[in-house]
Amino acid sequence: MLKFSQSVVSGSSVLVSMFPGTFTPGDIDVYVSDVFKTSVLGFLFKNGYSRVKLVYPWIQRAEIIEVYELNNDAGQKVNVIVSVGKAVLPILRFHSTSVMNYISYHGVVVLHRLTLARIGIKNLPSDSVSSRTKQCYAKYEQRGFRILDRTEDVHVCEVDSDCLQTARSLFDKHVEHFIFPAHQAEDDCRLRQEEAGIMRWRSAAASNCAGLSAEKHGFYICDDKSRGERISYLILRYNTLSDSLTLVFEA
Ligand SMILES: [Zn+2]
Repeated sequence: MLKFSQSVVSGSSVLVSMFPGTFTPGDIDVYVSDVFKTSVLGFLFKNGYSRVKLVYPWIQRAEIIEVYELNNDAGQKVNVIVSVGKAVLPILRFHSTSVMNYISYHGVVVLHRLTLARIGIKNLPSDSVSSRTKQCYAKYEQRGFRILDRTEDVHVCEVDSDCLQTARSLFDKHVEHFIFPAHQAEDDCRLRQEEAGIMRWRSAAASNCAGLSAEKHGFYICDDKSRGERISYLILRYNTLSDSLTLVFEA
């Protein structure tokens, strides 16, 4: 299903696959572009998830259109998060780097290596952390993760992967990609291009690590070829000012 619908699994269930036995996830989160929403819901119906509830996004966000909650008779739950663009787009706005991971049909992709050391850096400026998000941080700390405002290490700002000022890419050398055996002969970057042709971001907490340029705002950009050639979603200055969503059409 993940392959034909270009969807990914993300959220805490990915951490369980990386650190078995750490905790028991209550559900599985599937992220899908609205282009493939019907396919994913249809697949889950066929596989016994008959009870469906449309729940609105728990946080009003420009990149999430809808959230569906599906249950089967065994009491298992799958959440389907429908993105306005590529399935991976909402992952760039997760509350900390520790959850910026996903499982695709070809493997497990970890956007921040510190996750492997059970360290997460907050992806929100300190004045934008809600009480709900603080509860999330506490939950992950109970699960054995350290959640930090910024990396503790001495580092080169705007260069090192752990610096909040560093602009990152899905295709840079800091991404960890654990490829499933059936795809190990394939190029890792080409496999990740299944998720997005362009995926770049700077942490929303960029101001927590003031480098030379001291840019205060994060950003993320992600293409969406499913809607036509060369459409990108560019979202600027998120979390510090009101969100803005701009469609960029290239000639
Ligand atoms: Zn820095």
